Amino acid sequence: MADHDAIIVGSGVNSLACGAFLARAGWRVAVLERESELGGAVRTAELTEPGFHHDVFSAWHPLWVGGPAHAELGDALAERGLEYLNTEHPTVAAQAELVFGVLGTELWSRAGLNLGVKAYRRLGRRGLAEFSGELVQSSRDWLTTTFRSERTHGLLAPWVLHTGLGPDAAASGFMTRVIAFAIEAGGMPIPRGGGARLVDALTRLIEDHGGTCRTGQDVERVVVSGGRATGVRLTDGNVLNAGRAVVCNVTPTQLYGRLLEPGDVPAEIGEAGKRFRFGRSEMQIHFALSELPRWDGDDRLGRTAIVHLTSGLDGVSRAVNEAERGLLPAEATVVVGQPLTIDDTRAPAGKGLLWIQLQELPWHVRGDAAGELDTGDGTWNESLRERYADRIQARLARHIPNFEASVLKRVVLSPADLQAANINLEQGDPYSGSLALDQNFLWRPFPRQPGHSTPIDGLFQIGASTWPGPGLGAGSGTLVAKALLQPPVAERIAGRISSFLRLRQA
Ligand SMILES: Cc1cc2nc3c(=O)[nH]c(=O)nc-3n(C[C@H](O)[C@H](O)[C@H](O)COP(=O)(O)OP(=O)(O)OC[C@H]3O[C@@H](n4cnc5c(N)ncnc54)[C@H](O)[C@@H]3O)c2cc1C
Repeated sequence: MADHDAIIVGSGVNSLACGAFLARAGWRVAVLERESELGGAVRTAELTEPGFHHDVFSAWHPLWVGGPAHAELGDALAERGLEYLNTEHPTVAAQAELVFGVLGTELWSRAGLNLGVKAYRRLGRRGLAEFSGELVQSSRDWLTTTFRSERTHGLLAPWVLHTGLGPDAAASGFMTRVIAFAIEAGGMPIPRGGGARLVDALTRLIEDHGGTCRTGQDVERVVVSGGRATGVRLTDGNVLNAGRAVVCNVTPTQLYGRLLEPGDVPAEIGEAGKRFRFGRSEMQIHFALSELPRWDGDDRLGRTAIVHLTSGLDGVSRAVNEAERGLLPAEATVVVGQPLTIDDTRAPAGKGLLWIQLQELPWHVRGDAAGELDTGDGTWNESLRERYADRIQARLARHIPNFEASVLKRVVLSPADLQAANINLEQGDPYSGSLALDQNFLWRPFPRQPGHSTPIDGLFQIGASTWPGPGLGAGSGTLVAKALLQPPVAERIAGRISSFLRLRQA
């Protein structure tokens, strides 16, 4: 008998949600993580000074709270200490059911087909054509044809960066609307004490149902026997067996370039997996401040969870374009996260803490659009990292007069640091793969092998590289867990026949 029913490689939010669903259903689950902490891109640490609890990577949880895993597991997680704090949350609706239906469905499945039929029934032929046209519209086109005010364009355009796209990319209009709805409907929830409290609660849930979550376990091979995944081999040589499923939360480059032998899968699929493309790179800057930031102009900015510093739609577009051409943007879109506006336990009383995100950076730096910084050999070394962060710090100081004097400590994570911290953040891409249309929706992770199954029986791929993509919604982990927990086809047909007979007898 195998040691486990399911082995889950990697401990990102998708893995933990998947593990929690399976363990709750009685499966013997093992989650294996190569790093020293569980959670992947969800980690909280006293990164700068004691008492300052920084969300090192992701910080904002509207996708988790609005997602399918939270809907089912939320109560069990609350019993295990997870508490969400929030800003005000008004609601909005506009084809929202269909929009979120697309994001929560395995598109290459009967459920995907059913969703298409439902959309057709609801919208008719013309309406469906219009809806699918809107799906591929750019953010620029949606914004400029929907709102007259350039301020509104500037307010919404930066959000498209949080979906891995730029405002001129195909489908960025749809994603701008998705994120605007999500925030409007769900506010900006974060866990009291830090994002890692979600990881703690999910881990406890898995363990309470007999599963294990282990760190320091680097999986180097999926063991395949007779065309079926039977377990994994670790870098220390240990082999663990899985009787029902091996679920890998990895990029296609790792799955097809490291974990599988070349002969395990058809050559064209292996090669296509290795060619999976990554998107723009990212930098995180964490500040511990001796006092709260006092914003210039409007004191409501000091009470706002996320402020974007931007010159507007064209500013975002220019910075994205510069990054895509290998340049450090002259004027980046600066995401200024202020978690203390929601959770004052993150820092000692009266102190300040900022979470800064820069999503318009190249992996190989070919130059500086501002013509100021020497970019050397184009790699993200310490000097380039700190000089670029200086530029951002100076920009913040122009809007926050008490800023420079209040900085106690700054910690910067360059794209290279992100890649070193989590193998899934290849090339410092926070979203684990370009979300260009040919790697998105029906084609994620890549057109040769879309969805979550692989050419090997019992082997599944989840994580940000797979549909429905990055973010804390845990969509892929949930979809795969639900699929695994479906009774086999024969049992399902027998079940349907017996309920039909019962109905007739009644
Ligand atoms: C800096 C940053 C900020 C972000 N901000 C937000 C935000 O505020 N809100 C939001 O919704 N989303 C945000 N995101 C995106 C979101 O955090 C990620 O998309 C999501 O957390 C990815 O989860 P995952 O399940 O795909 O796995 P990951 O979090 O990528 O974790 C995968 C784990 O698998 C492990 N692993 C990989 N290969 C192996 C192996 N062979 N053996 C063992 N272990 C392995 C890795 O070490 C890693 O720990 C952010 C991302 C980043 C990087």
